[in-house]
Amino acid sequence: MKNKKLIILILALIVLIGGTGKTISYMQEQKRIKIEQEKQAKIEAEKRKYMIGCSNDAKQFSYDAKEIGKRLDSYKYSNDGKKMVFLTFDDGTSTTVTPQVLKTLKENDVHATFFVTGSNIEKGGEKAKDLLKQELAEGHAIANHSYSHDYKTLYPNRTLDFNAFKADFDKNDKLLKDILGKYFSTRVIRCPGGHMSWKGMDTLDTYLEKNNMVSIDWNSLNQDAEGPKKVASQLSDIAIKESKDKDIVVLLMHDTYGKEETAKALPQIIKYFKDNGYEFKTLR
Ligand SMILES: [Zn+2]
Repeated sequence: MKNKKLIILILALIVLIGGTGKTISYMQEQKRIKIEQEKQAKIEAEKRKYMIGCSNDAKQFSYDAKEIGKRLDSYKYSNDGKKMVFLTFDDGTSTTVTPQVLKTLKENDVHATFFVTGSNIEKGGEKAKDLLKQELAEGHAIANHSYSHDYKTLYPNRTLDFNAFKADFDKNDKLLKDILGKYFSTRVIRCPGGHMSWKGMDTLDTYLEKNNMVSIDWNSLNQDAEGPKKVASQLSDIAIKESKDKDIVVLLMHDTYGKEETAKALPQIIKYFKDNGYEFKTLR
């Protein structure tokens, strides 16, 4: 009889301890799931910070680059009087011109797209890298304009070498991720020299289409990279003349070394578009 009581007691203890064990492991499991969920939420928040090409906070300033690409391809620049200008700066960042450009954009509360070139960013060291971060933080869009910008590598005999081109753009993309964070991505590219200038671009077009990417040229420019060197007033006059009678304007300028006059011309250029009712947008 005494033994029976003892056995029951032992059995009860086993059930109790087993139950407690289960409760502990259940709680541990819940805790593990919670930590995992928090980790995932953090990653998602980090990803959301960077939508394609610009920070998520700057989404309101951005516009579908694919639509603009189609318009450029078909020379459709009218938009029922609804005017939009895309200020674009190529070949940066530079430690000499980019700071002035950023200052003017901020003072005027407008946003631009920077088609950056990795070799120039690396040339400018930490300062250039900080400027790239500043561009993103201040609501501008960042697009890929190759690492080397070397025509001979990208287009030997004026004809696209797709593998070399892709490797060069991938190298730049990796650099952008190294500087801006691994979740940064852009689907917008600009071919050095312009897509319009080279032969054998079909392979690239197929690749871009398949990967939901877009190559953007321009339909207006200030000619800061063509012909004789110009002063600020000449650059703004040309940009304004080139943009006349276009509802949709994609304006090519440069913020690389030696383009100080472009930075000086920028206030006048922005004024023209503001006075004429243009909305300033970035490409994403
Ligand atoms: Zn360029």
